[in-house]
Amino acid sequence: MEQTRVIDYSQFHSRLRIPGRLHLDTPLRIGAGGLPGATEVDLPVIKDAAQRPFIPGSSFKGAFRAHLESILRVFNNEFACGTLTDGVRCISQERINRWKSEYRDNAAGLSDKLLQETCWTCRVFGAPWLASKVLFKDMPVAPETWFGRYQERSGVGIDRDTETAGDKLLYATEAVPAGTEFEFEMMVENAGDLEQGLILLGIQEVARGQMTLGGARSRGLGWVHLNVKWDEAYRIDRTSLRHFLITGKGQPLADENARKKLVEDFLREVGGVHA
Ligand SMILES: [Zn+2]
Repeated sequence: MEQTRVIDYSQFHSRLRIPGRLHLDTPLRIGAGGLPGATEVDLPVIKDAAQRPFIPGSSFKGAFRAHLESILRVFNNEFACGTLTDGVRCISQERINRWKSEYRDNAAGLSDKLLQETCWTCRVFGAPWLASKVLFKDMPVAPETWFGRYQERSGVGIDRDTETAGDKLLYATEAVPAGTEFEFEMMVENAGDLEQGLILLGIQEVARGQMTLGGARSRGLGWVHLNVKWDEAYRIDRTSLRHFLITGKGQPLADENARKKLVEDFLREVGGVHA
């Protein structure tokens, strides 16, 4: 059954914008869904109309969310519901329906109840009842790092019946070479300070090269690191919105100590820092 979004943010509370450059430390493979035996490359990577590589924002978001979920579970399994079976997230449709009738004449009460029960990652990255606060743009390749050549690796498929490798089972896998860079941009709408701390924690991890991306990670592909353009990053809240609308300038995020404080406040909240 399709779930309906119960919570909607029609008011502006905050915005966070973080631009950067994603650098490939090892080749990257985000598959385009190849047709077996159809072309010279059986397992092509995803490309734009001009045959240049790009990274879909949704692929980055998936890896980013999964990475933060794995960190949050260290503190408490209930902070991240992503691995529960059958797509059931921290609140089932059955419980939502029950609360909807309980809070029939109290929309604010229903929102509060849902938010209370929603895990950290669903609150930030979205759930069927809650829109995502995080948007990742599709990431185009940085032209000066792209020389028009994909890396090709050939693999040998094993025939299951005979357990031999025949000529017909040779296949070619494509990857984007190491050293290629992509333009990164993320926007976060209406996240509270603690949620911004969680997101900055994730950004810090990618900046340190701790997150992997794409396929064939067990073969060493997909190691990346993010060079954040902190000088161009900003926050806006309700008090600085007016200034932003007039000047186009938000509150800078260039101060490392201010960013660390947001991360530390979040870690204190989830029990990762004992103050
Ligand atoms: Zn959840």
